[in-house]
Amino acid sequence: MTEHIAFIGLGNMGGPMALNLCKAGYKLTVFDVMPDAVKKLTEAGAAAAADIAGAVKDADIIITMLPGNDHVKKVYLEGGVLAHAKAGALLVDSSTINADVARDVAAAAQQKGFRMIDAPVSGGTAGAAAGTLTFIVGGDAADLESARPLLEKMGKNIFHAGASGAGQMAKICNNMLLAILMIGTSEALNLGIRGGLDPKVLSEIMSKSSGRNWALEVYNPMPGVMENVPASRGYTGGFGTDLMLKDLGLAMEIAGSADVSTPLGTHARDLYKAHSEAGHGKLDFSSILKLVEAQALAKSA
Ligand code: NAD
Repeated sequence: MTEHIAFIGLGNMGGPMALNLCKAGYKLTVFDVMPDAVKKLTEAGAAAAADIAGAVKDADIIITMLPGNDHVKKVYLEGGVLAHAKAGALLVDSSTINADVARDVAAAAQQKGFRMIDAPVSGGTAGAAAGTLTFIVGGDAADLESARPLLEKMGKNIFHAGASGAGQMAKICNNMLLAILMIGTSEALNLGIRGGLDPKVLSEIMSKSSGRNWALEVYNPMPGVMENVPASRGYTGGFGTDLMLKDLGLAMEIAGSADVSTPLGTHARDLYKAHSEAGHGKLDFSSILKLVEAQALAKSA
């Protein structure tokens, strides 16, 4: 591969995504504020930069995978990517952030002569590791086509949602639905177990019935039902409760400004807020099962 790629943000998602680019033979320079995250990539053959300027200065395509709005604004606008990237570079932000922030950063990038797309992902850490993510892209179709060969090394499905910011908008709608499905799945499993059912048997039945959904079939929240999911490793290494809470906050912002009613989304946000405030913010979002169990026990006490 002749293109030189910079990858910034090597956490639960960015780490395995960058590894897939290494494996595909891209020349990769990486940066993260956490040295441990960088180490895994240098062991796989990537070059480590000391700062953002060093990471982006020679890159043709720059990918970021950061926690939220403030990190993206800092990395792009505050003396970072836009100040140091080489002319004509294509910028791809895969973080999940507010659509307005995505549009503002893209507009600032365009003013400086860069091309930029928002390309948030769905598919979780397993999808990141397997290279089967779904990319949901906002921006110019031509810029998506320039990024497509690279995105195909990390994902299986690539959608063009519309103009700048549309990728973020679609991603947030998806994650609001995911939160509702995870809580609903937890509630159904907890009800069945308390009614004397085996969670594995119940999961199998519902997976072949009309209650089937991704949280149940791919990311089951009950420990021991599935291997290789966060629930079966102490709710570690997945999609953090605080990140889901952030996404539900973004959904509520959109609902508020568009004057749209989202009763289940609002309730999901309140439950994730309570779960985070109970000290579970760093656990995977499927640990909401614990809150459902605790609330059911409190009610029956
Ligand atoms: P994470 O917290 O594991 O990783 C974020 C990384 O960004 C960390 O390694 C952190 O050190 C780094 N970082 C923060 N500020 C930085 C800076 N200024 N410069 C360089 N690096 C910096 O988060 P994650 O789970 O990888 O999620 C990243 C994004 O992807 C979030 O927006 C999240 O909502 C979204 N997402 C996550 C999942 C998932 O399953 N984890 C799924 C889809 C989308």
